[in-house]
Amino acid sequence: MTAQTAENEKLDSWRRKQLHGRHIKDLEQPHIDNEASNKWLKIGYLFPETEGFLISIQDQVVNTKNYRKFIIKDPCALDDRCRKCHKNPETIQHIINACPVLTQNDYTHRHNQIVHYVHQKLAIKHKLLPPKVQPYYQYTPKAVLETILTDKTIYCNRPDITLLDKTHKIAYLIDVAVPNTHNIKKAITDKIHKYSELKEEIIRIWNLDKVYIVPLVLSSTGVIPKHLHHSIKLLDLPQNAYITMQKAAILNTCRIVRRFLQEEPAIPTDQIS
Ligand SMILES: [Zn+2]
Repeated sequence: MTAQTAENEKLDSWRRKQLHGRHIKDLEQPHIDNEASNKWLKIGYLFPETEGFLISIQDQVVNTKNYRKFIIKDPCALDDRCRKCHKNPETIQHIINACPVLTQNDYTHRHNQIVHYVHQKLAIKHKLLPPKVQPYYQYTPKAVLETILTDKTIYCNRPDITLLDKTHKIAYLIDVAVPNTHNIKKAITDKIHKYSELKEEIIRIWNLDKVYIVPLVLSSTGVIPKHLHHSIKLLDLPQNAYITMQKAAILNTCRIVRRFLQEEPAIPTDQIS
């Protein structure tokens, strides 16, 4: 069986499942690059069980408390509140992007891995780092990387990365977001809005000709908006850079959900007599 046939069969069997298929609909939206979003499946770098797990996360058929109560209609599932924050319904979207208990560690780690990858790629491209370096997931960017030779500086603060090209008087304000699939469009416009004031300010202070706000947005389940290609091109990074970003996003998301589900639900305080 060729890789292409295998992939088509996977996609067909996926479409046929009645409860599944939500993700396929997500991918049909005009702002989404369908092919790029399925790249991880086509390359096939995940273990089969992780691949299956990610598909169930994408299709929202994971054994969360909300799923047990409202989809399986398990009579024992009385309470669907999150086992960690005890506030919101425990849906898969809540676990992968919105649980306030997870924000500081797991989501930040996933976000930072993508920032570090892009930072490293830019630093190598602009000769601020030698071409042979450690893997991006072991890489910690310095707050400021500068060389007099190229007259270029990369800051790593807020936004995630600022690339300043003093020779050409251009700056790039680069900010990463890894939202839920239905929030991709909003995340892109939010970034542009958030940095528009800073953009005007640094044009004036640094006396620049041009400042670009560059949102790098992909969903936590690896869905790639067409806009990401635009941002990658603007930074003059390799066109396939999105593949590593997608891998970092989905591996971290699978880890977050696995760890979350392994934890036994705490007994809600209002049920203790
Ligand atoms: Zn929660």
